[in-house]
Amino acid sequence: METAIKTLLSQRLLTMEESATIKMAQLARNLKSKGHDVISLSLGEPDFDTPTHIKEAAKKALDDGFTKYTPVPGLVELREAISKKFKRENNLDYAVNQIVVSNGAKQSIANLSLALLNEGDEVIILAPFWVSYSAIVKLSGGVPVILKSGIETDYKVPPEAIEAAITDRTKLLLFSSPCNPTGSVYSKEELGAIANVIGKHSDIHIIADEIYEHITFAGKHISIGSFEPVKDRTITVNGFSKGFAMTGWRLGYMGAPQWIAAACSKIQGQFTSGASAFGQKAAAVALESDMSPTYAMREAFQKRRDLVLDLLKEVPGMKLNRPQGAFYVFPDISAFFGKSDGTTTINNADDFCEYLLHKVHVAVVTGSAFGADNCFRISYAASEEQLIDAMTRIKKACLELS
Ligand code: PMP
Ligand code: GLU
Repeated sequence: METAIKTLLSQRLLTMEESATIKMAQLARNLKSKGHDVISLSLGEPDFDTPTHIKEAAKKALDDGFTKYTPVPGLVELREAISKKFKRENNLDYAVNQIVVSNGAKQSIANLSLALLNEGDEVIILAPFWVSYSAIVKLSGGVPVILKSGIETDYKVPPEAIEAAITDRTKLLLFSSPCNPTGSVYSKEELGAIANVIGKHSDIHIIADEIYEHITFAGKHISIGSFEPVKDRTITVNGFSKGFAMTGWRLGYMGAPQWIAAACSKIQGQFTSGASAFGQKAAAVALESDMSPTYAMREAFQKRRDLVLDLLKEVPGMKLNRPQGAFYVFPDISAFFGKSDGTTTINNADDFCEYLLHKVHVAVVTGSAFGADNCFRISYAASEEQLIDAMTRIKKACLELS
């Protein structure tokens, strides 16, 4: 960046990393627009359309005049539907005044960081973690304390490591399960053990990002907020992007202790106000209708996971686990480091992803963005045909490395 421009930008901006998922998706679009046959498996976005009954509900809401501002934390009707959903599906008790609807789960996490963190406050983040967590925490003055884990523990952090990371500056524990980028799902026992650790520290709150709750292949989703020791100290973040294929609608929500919900509403009231009125009407319908379109998407994702794993197993050097949720696989590719195709040498995961993009036109995201330097992320939210083509290309590129 030119020095003159740099002096005009805030330090806050200059020290912030660009979202690696969004950057890679844009790189893929750019290459495509130049006529290259690019397969983009970079963005975590269902390739399905929003179910028809939800779209119809939004159209009706527009016709009914839902075109005005709503209360900042959301229409009461939607918050009631969310409160019931939390009880029905997650065994969580959040009253209507404990719920804040926002413009995506991303904004819910930003609201929380801005509302809760003072300069130097520590946030324990279980890694691998979704790219925006650390950026949002840093932007809010907080210090991310990243607890790493690798494929040998199914990319899960043991409770002892969390306990050992707690200091008197620790304010929050932040993680997603099912996890973006690994697809790992913390079991009931593992969540219970984490709840016991945090339960002992009355000033620490948990942000449980459950946006992939409907995409699990290992049985019913369990919410950490349903465990007694952390019942009153868990903020459950969720949204409509993944489970209902509504990424472009920009609708997320949280359930939180009432004082935290009020604080987030205050922040949101100055930044963006309430989410779109007609979108909220349709979201209430989504929560209260038949879930079969969501279950059909989950089935399709499971089939694709199996397909991708079967194809990747044929690539020597690719270390795999078996993700139990979300729509990502996260191979460990450290076996390729130091290898070359004669022109390009792969020194790290960034090099590997760049190599795949330029050599075989497959866009994926480097693990370094998620706190896992030995890995890369494949989003399999794409058609089976595209996945077969992409895995064949990846295999070809890998076989050329020696
Ligand atoms: N959390 C996780 C783990 C995600 O993968 C994403 C990506 N969409 C979000 C939050 C943000 O979702 P939204 O589209 O609701 O902002
Ligand atoms: N969450 C998705 C991803 O990880 C969407 C892009 C983003 O917001 O980061 O790819």
